Amino acid sequence: MDKRFDVIIVGSGAGGGTLARCLAPSRKNILILERGDWLKREAQNWDAEAVFQRNRYVSPDTWYDRDGQPFQPQVHYFVGGATKMFGAALYRLRHEDFGELRHHDGTSPAWPITYEELEPYYAQAELMYHVHGLRGHDPTEPPASGPYPCPPVSNEPRTQKLFDDLTAADYHPFPAPCAIMLDEQNMAYSTCIRCQTCDGFPCLVHAKADAEIVGVRPALTFPNVTLLRNAKAIKLETNAAGTAVTSVVAEVAGEKEVFRGDIIVVSCGAANTAKLLLMSASDKHPNGLANGSDQVGRNYMFHNSQAVLAISREPNPTMFQKTIALNDFYFGMEGFGYPMGNIQMTGKSLGPMYRGEKPLETALLPIGLLNELAQHAVDFWLTTEDLPDSQNRVTVDRSGNLTLSYTPNNQVPQQKLFEKLKSMLSHLGMHPEHLIPRNIYMKTAIPIAGCAHQAGTCRFGTNPKTSVLDTNCKAHELGNLYVVDTSFFVSIGAVNPSLTAIANAIRVGDHLLQRLA
Ligand SMILES: Cc1cc2nc3c(=O)[nH]c(=O)nc-3n(C[C@H](O)[C@H](O)[C@H](O)COP(=O)(O)OP(=O)(O)OC[C@H]3O[C@@H](n4cnc5c(N)ncnc54)[C@H](O)[C@@H]3O)c2cc1C
Ligand code: SF4
Repeated sequence: MDKRFDVIIVGSGAGGGTLARCLAPSRKNILILERGDWLKREAQNWDAEAVFQRNRYVSPDTWYDRDGQPFQPQVHYFVGGATKMFGAALYRLRHEDFGELRHHDGTSPAWPITYEELEPYYAQAELMYHVHGLRGHDPTEPPASGPYPCPPVSNEPRTQKLFDDLTAADYHPFPAPCAIMLDEQNMAYSTCIRCQTCDGFPCLVHAKADAEIVGVRPALTFPNVTLLRNAKAIKLETNAAGTAVTSVVAEVAGEKEVFRGDIIVVSCGAANTAKLLLMSASDKHPNGLANGSDQVGRNYMFHNSQAVLAISREPNPTMFQKTIALNDFYFGMEGFGYPMGNIQMTGKSLGPMYRGEKPLETALLPIGLLNELAQHAVDFWLTTEDLPDSQNRVTVDRSGNLTLSYTPNNQVPQQKLFEKLKSMLSHLGMHPEHLIPRNIYMKTAIPIAGCAHQAGTCRFGTNPKTSVLDTNCKAHELGNLYVVDTSFFVSIGAVNPSLTAIANAIRVGDHLLQRLA
């Protein structure tokens, strides 16, 4: 293989996979280096036991917490990255999230770009990722230049009842934005079959609009794009002056290989991008590449998330449950003047998931009992913003061991959101005393391991002293190094992060197309 490229993209998830698709028509010679392989299509894709109990698609990595305790992070190394497993809930950040927002525990800082600057790219991202939704029902919805590209996913009877009960109680539920290739008008031809194993599972029939399906595969139809799988970048090398990256050193099938590129884009996920930059320290960049500011790895965020299940008085046979959401408390509520966050549904819980999430507590319970519980479960996902804190950070030792130091913040609004939902249950046909916390997405009792929504380790900004990247997501200190995964986030808001990473990758793609022209 010719090892010199116009652009090298490291990592093929929401950021990298999207960028590859945007740059593909440029006719430039593009290499995608991806440490993972294709996620194999196999029966286990939709097997809750294999996915949730045996962690079939979770990397065997070991990371360390701030006390040096090892844990297995819930990261997924495949073509398409974490989007292979995602719940496909693709939200825009709120308009207010781009400004400074006062929270219970402090201030969520302003972004260096406005919502208006990102809006056209949000629209393109929604089109590219087949987002289904309906504008005009979410009271916190930011302004949009057009409707969603696809109609909202319909509610099944139990979810419709929940929607109606919430509306009757004067709340404002809305159709959740959903990136699945479902054609309800013509199910015989729909790629998506509307199944129960979507959120947290790979899609066996390739109907989830993930970064492999709508990013990498279409990019590979262009002859100038090459994907190298099982190729793990281990170091970036610079010119003698330290002003530009010249090559990516990668382990490919156990052998070290060097790829030279004019433009290098890192998109390994927030923790691994920080790791790669820190591991690329040199004489000119002694604290790690692009790290003169000492900001690389800092301000790690991953949301204060709570997965909870409520017990419905009537059975809940819903197949695809992730169709409604509620933002009435996003910015607070009467009696509590701070942002609390978003409530949405998760995928329908299944008996084997409980055992995967809480192995000790459920060890003695027969699976039949867990299945019965699942039959009455209505599953919610609560997201509260965690604030950037420079001490919440990724560091790497000389051997490449990754430490994730994280001290939770903004816990009071998280608890308020939980209590608020609990207080609403009896009006929603559920047992009010039964709002049971779950560890979905973490599948372990160690919260820090649930890094599904990781973001913020290389924030962008206008000041090179306080940020790693400029507003084009180019490293302040290097002329040709870009980052397009969720690392660039300044704050994380309280909605799922992917659409913002995707929209930003398209925005950076526009900039790079101009630069390459
Ligand atoms: C179970 C689950 C459910 C989720 N649900 C949602 C949801 O409903 N909505 C939402 O918005 N978000 C959701 N997310 C989060 C979402 O998937 C991530 O925010 C998003 O994928 C982040 O994109 P990224 O480009 O930053 O990283 P990733 O998508 O993780 O991509 C990083 C890529 O880099 C590769 N890589 C890492 N290190 C190297 C290296 N050294 N060399 C080469 N390649 C490397 C990885 O293998 C991976 O392919 C979910 C995540 C999980 C795990
Ligand atoms: S609901 Fe549709 S997109 Fe999701 S896993 Fe099932 S078939 Fe795939």
